[in-house]
Amino acid sequence: MACQGAVSFDLSARQRATLSAICQTLLEGESGLEPTLRRAEALIASLPDPRDRTRLGLLLRALDLPLVNLVLSGRPHSLAALPAAERERVLRTWAFSTSVLRRAGFQALKRLVHVAHYCWPQEDGSHAAWRAVGYPGPLPFPASVPEPLPTVDVSRDTILDCDVVVCGSGAGGGVVAGALAQAGKSVVVLEKGRNPLPSQMTQIEGDMLSAWYLDGGLVMTQSGSMPILAGSCLGGGTAINYTTSFPLPQPVREEWDALSGLGVFTSDRFTQSLERVGLRSGLGTRWNTPGERDGLLERGCRALGWHVAAQPRNVTDCAEGLECGYCGYGCRRGAKNSTDRTYLRDAADAGARLVVQCDVERVTRERGRVTGVEATIRRSAGPPIRLTVKARAVVVACGAVHTPAVLRRSGLTNPAIGRGLRLHPATAVAGVFPHRVEPWSGALQTRYSEAFANLDAGYGARFETAPVHFALPASGFGWESARRFQHDVSRLAHTSIVGVLLRDRDAGRVAVGRDGRPRVHYELSDYDAGHVRRALVAAAEVLAAAGAREIFTLHTPPARVRPGTPNWRARLIAEADGRGYQRARMSYISFHQMGSAALGRDPSRSAADETGELHEARGLYVADGSAFPTSSGVNPMITIMAIADHIALGIAEAW
Ligand SMILES: Cc1cc2nc3c(=O)[nH]c(=O)nc-3n(C[C@H](O)[C@H](O)[C@H](O)COP(=O)(O)OP(=O)(O)OC[C@H]3O[C@@H](n4cnc5c(N)ncnc54)[C@H](O)[C@@H]3O)c2cc1C
Repeated sequence: MACQGAVSFDLSARQRATLSAICQTLLEGESGLEPTLRRAEALIASLPDPRDRTRLGLLLRALDLPLVNLVLSGRPHSLAALPAAERERVLRTWAFSTSVLRRAGFQALKRLVHVAHYCWPQEDGSHAAWRAVGYPGPLPFPASVPEPLPTVDVSRDTILDCDVVVCGSGAGGGVVAGALAQAGKSVVVLEKGRNPLPSQMTQIEGDMLSAWYLDGGLVMTQSGSMPILAGSCLGGGTAINYTTSFPLPQPVREEWDALSGLGVFTSDRFTQSLERVGLRSGLGTRWNTPGERDGLLERGCRALGWHVAAQPRNVTDCAEGLECGYCGYGCRRGAKNSTDRTYLRDAADAGARLVVQCDVERVTRERGRVTGVEATIRRSAGPPIRLTVKARAVVVACGAVHTPAVLRRSGLTNPAIGRGLRLHPATAVAGVFPHRVEPWSGALQTRYSEAFANLDAGYGARFETAPVHFALPASGFGWESARRFQHDVSRLAHTSIVGVLLRDRDAGRVAVGRDGRPRVHYELSDYDAGHVRRALVAAAEVLAAAGAREIFTLHTPPARVRPGTPNWRARLIAEADGRGYQRARMSYISFHQMGSAALGRDPSRSAADETGELHEARGLYVADGSAFPTSSGVNPMITIMAIADHIALGIAEAW
């Protein structure tokens, strides 16, 4: 298992005993707990931020102290010394605590233990919980898989020369690399993640998260209230995302121009960028036959007379019967037109050099103008390799969490860098149906509803679904007891979700520590939480109208109702309100990070001008989700690609 090799942080014997007691409590009655414990330890060791490892270590130590347990839970024993029922009672005092720190601490441990347990097969290649619900786990490899991208093998300290070095190869970086290489520039692409080889797409969720996701899928906000998911491989998020491909809506284009003081977003030139990236990415609704999960969203919305429609996706030949539902872990059929299949291939064909496992540390400058970047290549074996790239222009496209970190490590001081971070917090309501839904199957996100997308001045939430394998319940389902959690998981095949994707008005920020690491500070504001509340109840109504027998939220403990029983809506609202919507009371995930190095006219309120060039450094550009003036409301990939196309065109024209 990939994450097991990464252990570099040892728990003490007592911390390990506490972790073991937590595994036994959260997974009471489950088999195979020894490998789960080893994996949970390995996950803690592989947490990207040393501060998070220390915090978890302290939490385990606190649960071991009789005095702490006496004060907080009235039980004067270490957790490991208590009988099972008592241990669960202690954990419940943490889960339902009035202290956000204790709630977030519980959530972090619960998530690690459940992911460690449910997201890898047991010894026989399957898993008792998977078999119990008829989840097939990884599918057999297809007979043929697409050719991987060619990369440059750098085996010793090296200096490369080029016109443009592109840092990060996702939605933004991929497009810039392809467009500039095709315009005749010599391009080097440096990508921190690996080459997403189809032969390595095993569909084992735990391994796939650590292989293709940013920091193994373990990035969290500082308060611990929201996990942040992003891709990290050639293609970045586009290689593992759910293929939804909306253009930026006209009202948001107008809002962005007004806010940024730029005329870019409503310009014909930007319209052409949107059209170009749409064409190259093969957008359309042709391959949108809904699976049962999306079918329920559609039927529920129609029954209520609410908006529902097919959404454009960037896929080709994505016929039914392919491995749809699994391509959040990479599409090994090559049907997804991610940038590793499109723009990065264009770049490679035009002579661009792609270097993987290459972490850009800083941009180098002389007299206010960029000269290139310094980077380190880290492989599982062998010492780190220094790579220096000399370039006339540097494009930073490391995603909205890491771009501010690269800029700060490079000595940029504009206070606007890191501010304005939007996360599109996503939660869901789950419905249990009398028939099998198999929510892990079916094409990704073929239907959406914007019935509640404009609750106030363009802010609100959209409804979409997401493939539900075991990672999502493991990290997102709320908790009240081991028995109840296992009961929820045992009905997974009959469960569907309506995802609530919030357009957040209010921002957080990316701070960069002295160690150069990005740290995300973000809490849902009261204004935004109000929209979640409205949308959550509406999502429950969709599930009820589609025939759900039971509905539960992702609160801890979940709010549960049976549609059709008296006052079920009012009871759901009352239960959900009683728990609250902020600060680790309900599960959210961020799939979309935006706005932390925004474009704008005013250097005191934005990081870069309308060409993407940083206000304080000539020849240095941002071209990724960081560049958004606010959140896009729609899934952001196509907007990021269009901004990148616009910026690449400007660079090509300037020379
Ligand atoms: C599970 C999931 C599903 C999603 N589904 C959709 C969807 O259906 N539709 C949609 O529009 N959006 C979706 N998104 C979001 C979308 O994929 C992202 O918004 C988009 O890819 C962001 O583009 P970007 O260029 O800003 O950054 P990314 O695409 O994240 O690319 C940044 C790249 O930079 C690399 N990097 C970071 N730091 C460094 C460094 N120091 N040196 C070198 N490289 C570095 C990273 O490894 C990464 O590969 C989804 C995201 C996830 C996680």
